[in-house]
Amino acid sequence: MIYVLLGVLGLALGSFVNALVWRVRIQDKGGLKKKKPSKDLSILRGRSMCVYCKHSLRWIDLIPVISWVSLKGRCRYCKKAISWQYPVVECILAILAVGSYFFWPYELSSWASWLVLIAWVISLVPMLALVIYDIKWMEMPTRIIYSLNGTAMVFIGLMAYDLKSWDIVISSIAGSILLGGLFWMIYQISGGRWIGGADVRYGFTMGALLGWQGAILGLALASYLGTALIIVLIAIGKYHKKMRIPFGPFLISATYIAALFGQQVINWYKSLAGL
Ligand SMILES: [Zn+2]
Repeated sequence: MIYVLLGVLGLALGSFVNALVWRVRIQDKGGLKKKKPSKDLSILRGRSMCVYCKHSLRWIDLIPVISWVSLKGRCRYCKKAISWQYPVVECILAILAVGSYFFWPYELSSWASWLVLIAWVISLVPMLALVIYDIKWMEMPTRIIYSLNGTAMVFIGLMAYDLKSWDIVISSIAGSILLGGLFWMIYQISGGRWIGGADVRYGFTMGALLGWQGAILGLALASYLGTALIIVLIAIGKYHKKMRIPFGPFLISATYIAALFGQQVINWYKSLAGL
């Protein structure tokens, strides 16, 4: 039952991710035809509409995945093709939400502990939006990072309340300074060539979400994931030196993995080191 509820919530949040990415892009860079920023599209208010014909969409057009499949991937009104990315993003968020519950490392006994999980699942919205934005346009909008800061603070605050422990807050602040500070230094040393300004901003958020131990693990994971992709690209002959690979998606995937499995890995490492 909880799986179904979280799956449905994930689909709905995934559909919000699609709208969020599209609306932020249009506000910042302009629409499909207009090439200048436009402010007449609100992020939270305003009805959903077709990207092409601007026809308002009814509830029946907005059911995640099902609408897209039943309309065979076309707009009901103008028949233009709607990208397969929409249902895929919805499914990905649903899987991430259900996966979070399945692998959740904390006890779910009190109402506050459930709110911690919900705050985490809601945090997946800006995280996935940043991944898509970075893959598509090689940048991560600052306001999406800031909205993730907001949900991250709620997440940490609720967890501290639930566990009646300040250690989590302290670890979160330490993680933020550690990772953000490290990225900031790399940014300064390389003049922004090795790491982007948005990666630095995300570093602060990532450290806050994971705590200082999780932040170290997350950074290691992100580097492994990045290296793995480059090895795959070299193996299939698609890699070339001038290629720009955004770091954001690796950092964010690593955040997800470290948040769910970090404690296990840290404990395992400690036992290995005999601590
Ligand atoms: Zn249309």
